[in-house]
Amino acid sequence: NLKGKTAVITGSNSGIGLGIARALAGAGADVVLNSYTDRDEDHALARELGAEFGVAVRYIRADLSKGAEARGLIEEAGACDILVNNAGIQQVAPIPEFPVEKWDAILAIMLSSVFHTTAVALPMMRAAGWGRIINVSSAHGLRASPYKSAYVAAKHGVVGLTKVTALETAEEPITCNALCPGYVLTPLVEAQIPDTMAQYGLDREQAIRQVILERQPSKDFATLEQLGGTAVFLCSDHAAQITGTTLSMDGGWTAK
Ligand code: NAD
Repeated sequence: NLKGKTAVITGSNSGIGLGIARALAGAGADVVLNSYTDRDEDHALARELGAEFGVAVRYIRADLSKGAEARGLIEEAGACDILVNNAGIQQVAPIPEFPVEKWDAILAIMLSSVFHTTAVALPMMRAAGWGRIINVSSAHGLRASPYKSAYVAAKHGVVGLTKVTALETAEEPITCNALCPGYVLTPLVEAQIPDTMAQYGLDREQAIRQVILERQPSKDFATLEQLGGTAVFLCSDHAAQITGTTLSMDGGWTAK
């Protein structure tokens, strides 16, 4: 039971971040939702989540491409017992044509922000005497694909930073691990389906099975509930000695 704990989940007004936020709220944690927008619907989402699970939920805007805002997110949260670094974007292009500003943005949002949030959250966890850091990496944190240079570099970087964080907290009741999902059907992946269909001349079903899930032997997506449940497990006492490692949820992708 995570009652009395505060969980900050970056990039959580959609997709995996929201799925993990729902699972942590369901386990009793108070939740801070985040994204770079500041729309009525972002704050409404926080109200709905709070009402559904009977926990305190706030939405804090912060653009994680900026280090100061990533640090500001944790400072404004005021407490951070559970930190889930999840925000991410994707860009697919060969290296010579890869837009430089996209490279910079992906590294900032998906790698540097993890450093910044962790730097501010660790002293809070130490003061509270307990902490959990869950970094959402990817099968692409362990394996590469062509044309995803920034994404693969950032996700591999997150796995490295996860190990360092675990070693720096090894003797404390704080753990840091990386979740490495294969494909999960979220807006980020949904957006790749029409392009894939057009590029290969396939229908939706074929595009999913033959192209998108080509490397996922289960031929099935991981679900938000599975990711959320794994995050809750990592916050439990059973997982207290699990630190500095990766948990693959990829239907066998990295077994190959
Ligand atoms: P998504 O697009 O649904 O969610 C991404 C979240 O990040 C959104 O809430 C978005 O608002 C937020 N975000 C983007 N830029 C931001 C910024 N500058 N500042 C703050 N927030 C920002 O995508 P998703 O599939 O849920 O992805 C979540 C994470 O999971 C990402 O790190 C992604 O790389 C990773 N992942 C996804 C899959 C998959 O198959 N969907 C697989 C492996 C890993």
